[in-house]
Amino acid sequence: MNYLNIYSTVINNFLKKNKNAYNLLKLGIFIGKNYVKFFPDKRLPKSLRYLHQIAFSWTYKGMTSKRCVWVNLFAPAEILLAFNLDPIFVEAISAFLSGLELEDELILRAESFGISESFCSFHKAFIGAVLSDLLKKPKFLVATSSICDANLNTFRFISENLKIPFFFLDVPREYSEEAKDYLKLQLKELISFVEKETGAKLDLHKLSRIIQIENQVRGQMKKCLELLGKKQIPTTLTFEMFMLYTSHTFIGKEETLRFYKMLVEDLRNAKARDKKGVFFIHTLPMFEENFKNLFNFNKDLTIIGMDLNYDFLEELPTDDPIEALSIKLLKNPYNSDFEKRIEHIKKLISLTSPDAVIQVCQMGCKQSIGCSMLFKEEFKKLDIPFTFIDVDCVNKKNNNHGQIKTRLEAFFESIK
Ligand code: SF4
Repeated sequence: MNYLNIYSTVINNFLKKNKNAYNLLKLGIFIGKNYVKFFPDKRLPKSLRYLHQIAFSWTYKGMTSKRCVWVNLFAPAEILLAFNLDPIFVEAISAFLSGLELEDELILRAESFGISESFCSFHKAFIGAVLSDLLKKPKFLVATSSICDANLNTFRFISENLKIPFFFLDVPREYSEEAKDYLKLQLKELISFVEKETGAKLDLHKLSRIIQIENQVRGQMKKCLELLGKKQIPTTLTFEMFMLYTSHTFIGKEETLRFYKMLVEDLRNAKARDKKGVFFIHTLPMFEENFKNLFNFNKDLTIIGMDLNYDFLEELPTDDPIEALSIKLLKNPYNSDFEKRIEHIKKLISLTSPDAVIQVCQMGCKQSIGCSMLFKEEFKKLDIPFTFIDVDCVNKKNNNHGQIKTRLEAFFESIK
């Protein structure tokens, strides 16, 4: 038994006995954040070692700071960063807790409270953690209607049960001048809400500066995409998931810009791609044994990227940050119908030239399962090997490892 197993067993025992394990969790993340800083994984390039540090540090703040705010992945966190708040998104918390082997107890807690078994386990583990008092109560909650239909239920449930103020943004599914004005009005209301909750005034210049950084980050992301088609760096599924921090909630941070500049440099200096490259759609099963064995530091396969890390690549206006955020939310291709999403993915595919594409269908996620057959048809037309696999990225007990192994082996055999 290693230290992590012992630590997980102790927290699980606390949870089983209904004892508060928050301080234990806080201590563990504190140790983890310093460990990755002082003992980085030497197999990783510099950029990913840095990503490890910043993702851990943001997780620590988001789960322990007095200024933490819980958000969904698509919430306009730029506004929160402009108020020096510490946002953290639901999926990051659940994945982190699953990495600590706590998901079983947490999901059990959520289900025993009446949460449906078929609800996405990213949300169930998070709700279980909230019900177990494993997380510091945030100042408030912010979520959008974009993409994931589980958000409204989860955030409303938490707001009602913990009596936490909640702001919900209704994002129209089509871009139009009316939709933009409607959303701008809501964003202004969000700012007033945050001002009321924090007692501070928004500094519009700071928000503009955040949008400026974001634009520079997207410039670096585009360079990465061009290089990812030709080069390869040693990586793992976890690091592609960590990029959700830098491509979404923390995209406007200076640290994020530094990370992408380092990544571009690492890719430029990396060796030419000689492994089969796989592009992922939707999410990554970073705790599933077969996927881990196949993709983490693999000699024959390389992870090219995941679509959600490159979901919005347009330059935003910096003179009116509210307009910029409204455009960003409305023009996200994932906020619209399948046509827009597949057109966007095709662009990413043509830039990165993968040898195969895998769509990971998270159990309980209608957004993933509903598109699988459409993706299959589209990739057939493009003559790119494609498969979709049902996996639970959080609740490991839900995965039939034998079936997944057979499915992956057959797929990779067919593209040899
Ligand atoms: S996997 Fe699907 S249901 Fe779960 S959080 Fe992501 S989009 Fe929402």
